[in-house]
Amino acid sequence: MLKLDSVKVSYGAIEAVKGVDLEVRAGEVVTIIGANGAGKSTLLKSIAGLEPLQDGKIFIGGKDCSQVAPHQRVGLGVAMSPEGRGVFADQTVRENLMLGAYSRRGAPRAIEDAMEREFNRFPRLRERQHQLSGTLSGGEQQMLAIARALMSEPKLLLLDEPSLGLAPLIIKDIFDAIRQLRHSGLTILLVEQMAKQALGVADRAYVLETGLITLEGTGRELLNDPKVKAAYLGAH
Ligand code: ATP
Repeated sequence: MLKLDSVKVSYGAIEAVKGVDLEVRAGEVVTIIGANGAGKSTLLKSIAGLEPLQDGKIFIGGKDCSQVAPHQRVGLGVAMSPEGRGVFADQTVRENLMLGAYSRRGAPRAIEDAMEREFNRFPRLRERQHQLSGTLSGGEQQMLAIARALMSEPKLLLLDEPSLGLAPLIIKDIFDAIRQLRHSGLTILLVEQMAKQALGVADRAYVLETGLITLEGTGRELLNDPKVKAAYLGAH
């Protein structure tokens, strides 16, 4: 579904991603864990086409998409729920969801079906569909960001720090939703600082440190790895 080959991304002189190889197979949940500033968000943005590659290649469904525009990657089945959620505060929940379906704008019936599906997944969003998104709680905004990404019917969902700034009970709800998406067969690449929860839901995982992959394995292997325990699991 996704393959990264020696991907490098820089911001001027800052090398945020320094040559990453990574693979996500169809139906897998793969997580990238790592500290603040390790390059996780940069990597996810480069997969969505929002940061240009300095070097390397990104293959989506076997096709070299390294130079493909973000909206065309949506057409190829990639959708992202960004760090910080990125909901449009002065638009209603429904309007935000409509934006997520922009690539399907010629198919109003399919959009209504997708919206119904997301309202069933996140009943809170149905209740608040006419409310301005800026008035939602942090957890509800996160649900909206995920639902908006799902409106394009992606094959690969990129989830950036869905737990950020949320209370423990809400984080549990978000991870329950990720588990359900996984059962539905969706392929997910999840970036998280909540390493314990992320490794618990993931089939496979990578550890990113200052722009480089330093460890990889199954979620279970990394949960039990002494280095991972010492560096990432202590606080949770
Ligand atoms: P966090 O969890 O804090 O978001 P991260 O692992 O996602 O961390 P990135 O946000 O990808 O890390 O940042 C990687 C590096 O690139 C950091 O050193 C950061 O300061 C730098 N960086 C990120 N975005 C920019 C930008 N737009 N301009 C310049 N430097 C940036």
